[in-house]
Amino acid sequence: MHKKLFIPGPVEVRPDVLAKMATPMIGHRSKDASALQRRISDKIRQLFYTDEAILLSTSSGSGLMEGAVRSCTLQRAAVFSVGAFGKRWWEMADANNVPADLFEVEWGQPTLPEQVDAVLATDRYDLITITHNETSTGIMNPVESIAAVVKKYPKVVFCMDAVSSMGGTKIEVDKLGVDVCITSTQKALGLPPGLAICSFSRKAVARAQQVPHRGYYLDLLSLYEYIQQKDYQYPSTPSLPHMFALDYQLDRILEEGLEARFARHADMAEYVRAWARRRFAIFAHRDHLSNTLTTISNTAGIDVAALNKALGERGYQISNGYGKMKDKTFRIAHMADCTLDEIKDLIGTIDDILK
Ligand SMILES: *Cc1c(COP(=O)(O)O)cnc(C)c1O
Repeated sequence: MHKKLFIPGPVEVRPDVLAKMATPMIGHRSKDASALQRRISDKIRQLFYTDEAILLSTSSGSGLMEGAVRSCTLQRAAVFSVGAFGKRWWEMADANNVPADLFEVEWGQPTLPEQVDAVLATDRYDLITITHNETSTGIMNPVESIAAVVKKYPKVVFCMDAVSSMGGTKIEVDKLGVDVCITSTQKALGLPPGLAICSFSRKAVARAQQVPHRGYYLDLLSLYEYIQQKDYQYPSTPSLPHMFALDYQLDRILEEGLEARFARHADMAEYVRAWARRRFAIFAHRDHLSNTLTTISNTAGIDVAALNKALGERGYQISNGYGKMKDKTFRIAHMADCTLDEIKDLIGTIDDILK
């Protein structure tokens, strides 16, 4: 039996979207490929609220995260982490010999603008990374106030991991001044895993032009230049199946309406939070809760694995806690094309099992 996924990626994909993955191939150097990739980029710009360039990468989101920190750091990167995915960005910098420092907070807490201000005031950094939505802890960072601070430091290239939130909540990339905003297909966008997407600002382009060793496959500048020169085509063969599905899914997203889509996510989040507060507690700081997933503290001491097994027998799957938080927390994703009714079904089923 297929288990309906309520895990924070990969998410449940609608059958009509899934079917688009089986579209017959076209040549990746054809006019049709250019048109497809141009259409996708135009629609992504609406979703990201940006006028900047859009890059697609046949990798998961981690690929563009690694590419961004390597392609755009000249001096030193300041990595702000509020959980497992924030820290990953520091590991990527380190693995690529990119100078970087890690600034962590206790899990469950957000990155605060004062912390960012104090770090940038040292003048040691020309790139920062911020996690928009931390999928381990369920924190959604206060990016508006962080962005206001970053604007005081014009040399800083602002990179944002929006992998588990873009498409599920409003992120106004240009207004925030984000230079490289990254997401991947298998989370709030509601597609299978395998393609990553980012915005790439003129400021990021200018920076990358100064960086000598940007790698090869994940060199964001080379992707950017190729797109400019070759009418939206890519240097190597991209995942055309993802592009067919993404083109179609973006139409569905824009048809639903961005505001309506974000409101649906907020409604689902509210429902799960209210239930979690009744039966357990919410792990993340109450003022910075994610709209796309909830990390629940297992205050009732339930057997999370047993719950998930029982859910599996009824056709549902949720997530245990991430890494060191396994069994102490568990996670319910409420993102992508999931509806409030489906969330109510899931919660009703959990209540039934825990009775
Ligand atoms: C899933 C996730 C990633 C990693 O993305 P992949 O597409 O799996 O490489 C990075 N950051 C966050 C916040 C995530 O949720």
